[in-house]
Amino acid sequence: PDGALVYRRVLLKLSGEALMGDGDFGIDPKVLDRTAGEIAALAARGHELAIVIGGGNIFRGAGLAGGGMDRVTGDHMGMLATVINSLAMGDALRKKGVDARVLSSLDMNQVCEPYARYRAMEHLDKGRVVILSAGTGSPFFTTDSAASLRAIEVKADLLIKATKVDGVYSADPMKDAAAIFYSSLSYDKALADKLGVMDATALILCRDHDMPLRVMNINQEGALARLLAGEDIGTLVST
Ligand code: UDP
Repeated sequence: PDGALVYRRVLLKLSGEALMGDGDFGIDPKVLDRTAGEIAALAARGHELAIVIGGGNIFRGAGLAGGGMDRVTGDHMGMLATVINSLAMGDALRKKGVDARVLSSLDMNQVCEPYARYRAMEHLDKGRVVILSAGTGSPFFTTDSAASLRAIEVKADLLIKATKVDGVYSADPMKDAAAIFYSSLSYDKALADKLGVMDATALILCRDHDMPLRVMNINQEGALARLLAGEDIGTLVST
């Protein structure tokens, strides 16, 4: 491994939608393959990678509850959706020669390993990519909160939230042409201005435990590699 890496251990949060491509449901195999390729290149450079994937391309608990389903049941379905995405990513990474392990915060021992912090740490220490699925294992949380929690637990040097936009803006850049781009900002400002970077639970966890966050665009090919090579890409949110 390269001793000069600024951010050796990184937790990468991918939304479920990041795997969806131009579709409106499920996983686009081409997008999955491309993303896995970028992750494989980072692993080859010596980064210790933990990945948390959302489930919004399949089910979200709040959406299901809006349709009349019990919220907790909906959240259980949402967490299972993250396991589906994580299994797909594990497969795509192994095809690229990466030793990737899927861990789940809900026990399903025939399908993947149960999450335990020591286990995740052990895999990371050995250079394996870990995919941490099923969010926190509890309803009423998001995978952003799971990503923040796990980043702190495994002592990541950086949390990266890969999204469809270039970083954090003062307003939604898709809807408001006057939106201002922030290259850096504090967690307190993100919370006070309700900037929608992550939910408040996730932001407060990161703030209180000094976990720096980069918000960047996953659809920009190569941006992830350039970010970890030290380029100032996206938005840095810090305490
Ligand atoms: N979820 C949950 N607990 C968690 C993480 C996720 O109940 O700790 C459920 C919740 O219903 C959520 C769904 O899983 O809507 C998918 O996760 P998320 O919405 O965060 O996915 P993303 O928006 O990142 O694709």
